[in-house]
Amino acid sequence: MPHSRLLSAPAGRRAHAPRATSLHQRRVRLIVLAGSGVSGGVALCWAMFFAFSGAWWNVALDLLAVAATATAVWLVQRDRLRAASLLASATVYLVVTVSAGWLDVPSPELPRTMHLFLLALGVVCSLLMREEAPWLRHGAPLLCLFTYAFFACVDPRWHTVLAIPDPVRAAALWWDQAAALLMLYLTVHVMQTDVAERDGLETELRDALLRGELLLHYQPQVACDGRIIGAEALVRWLHPARGLVSPGEFIPLAERSGLMPALGDWVLDAACRQLAAWRQDPGSAALCVAVNVSASQFAQPGFEQRVLDILRRSGAEPRQLKLELTESTLAHNLEEVVAKMQFLSRQGVLLSLDDFGTGFSSLSYLRRLPLHQLKIDQSFVAGMLAAERDAAIVKAVVGLGTSLGLDVIAEGVETEAQRAFLAALGCEKFQGFLFSRPLPVAAFEQLLHRPRPPRTAPAAQSAAAPAARAARREAAPAPPAW
Ligand code: C2E
Ligand code: MG
Ligand code: MG
Repeated sequence: MPHSRLLSAPAGRRAHAPRATSLHQRRVRLIVLAGSGVSGGVALCWAMFFAFSGAWWNVALDLLAVAATATAVWLVQRDRLRAASLLASATVYLVVTVSAGWLDVPSPELPRTMHLFLLALGVVCSLLMREEAPWLRHGAPLLCLFTYAFFACVDPRWHTVLAIPDPVRAAALWWDQAAALLMLYLTVHVMQTDVAERDGLETELRDALLRGELLLHYQPQVACDGRIIGAEALVRWLHPARGLVSPGEFIPLAERSGLMPALGDWVLDAACRQLAAWRQDPGSAALCVAVNVSASQFAQPGFEQRVLDILRRSGAEPRQLKLELTESTLAHNLEEVVAKMQFLSRQGVLLSLDDFGTGFSSLSYLRRLPLHQLKIDQSFVAGMLAAERDAAIVKAVVGLGTSLGLDVIAEGVETEAQRAFLAALGCEKFQGFLFSRPLPVAAFEQLLHRPRPPRTAPAAQSAAAPAARAARREAAPAPPAW
């Protein structure tokens, strides 16, 4: 029986498990949908107008814009927000630039207006690209503004077959100006709301700790034979108005506003109390709880002592607490990090390296750090059945961990084929939606105590390898193109 059936939460509970999306993602989705809808609609109207007047080059240009904006909407529906926002911004930029240069050619009587849309697009880009790399975050808005300046100062007059006759331009003069300035006003308004909302969220996060709005969800970690051997504690913020806010949104906020030590201590304390409570029940007494520790939290003076204090106060066993660090923790002052890790390890606390392979990935630190576990990042797991390189990285991490005597766990396991593939490589622990989404504590306990169908471990283990090989053949990646 596939593990998903063995362990997955009941359908009802799964349906209730909320998926938190960040404020920024929701905003990007809205802007791309609205922007693509309006631009696609306008391009379609122009295409019909040009078709009546037989200007086929203009029709082709407008239909291209319609196709690109429709693709952006399609990408949004598939949650590929980054691709959608890049495509939509690039399309609108190209359409506006081509229109301003070759369609809206000014005459002594009538000025150019199309380039005004570049001002609004510059502001939209700075909103959409807020979380991109600096070259794109600053480059895209600046490109729009410089192109605007080019049309305003150089005022080129390229007369080609695409140029729209003056009577048509005269009819659209007021409309174009009003639409561009309205778009500019709306985007500045959205930006202002965005800043105010983030400021408000920061203040609310300070109160959330006091008001008890933070909670932990637990995502099972599973052994080869399907047993739940532990859980990762993942913090959630149950905001009174917004609902569940994702840690991806409020942890960076906590870092920026200096709230991370208090938030991190709260998470550690809650997880340790839970561990101590689970020790009272034989069904959960042996569970291990993994807690994420951010780089800034780990770097706080006295962090290691605080962990010990929290363990002592809660009555939890150090060997059942696993701290998940990321490679960014190791990027500064390695000597101090090693000393803290050695201290914690001597006290029995387990240490895991989360998102392994996505950081600065210097293998030399693996020799020096008292690690117990490597956690294969979910991006490699997601790609390994389709991309030979991801599969090679996963194989290398499993081999590396095993030969260094470390535990290896894969996260983001979503399908039985992925589980089988990992098992065939020798990975013995798994975490992912295949088994369960992160759950509130009561639902996690229900899952833990649900009777599992009888399964003889050795048979299951020995059956796993051929099954995994079959799954691997079935899902074998196509030969790489290179
Ligand atoms: P992480 O530690 O790598 O946690 C795994 C994330 O992947 C979780 O997202 C989890 O819900 C998600 N996930 C688990 N299985 C699957 C799967 O099969 N498919 C997919 N697509 N995703 C899966 P979540 O809870 O939104 O947390 C995101 C990140 O926020 C965490 O990444 C961690 O870096 C951070 N975080 C969460 N809780 C805490 C905390 O208490 N303290 C700190 N410092 N960071 C935390
Ligand atoms: Mg983690
Ligand atoms: Mg991770």
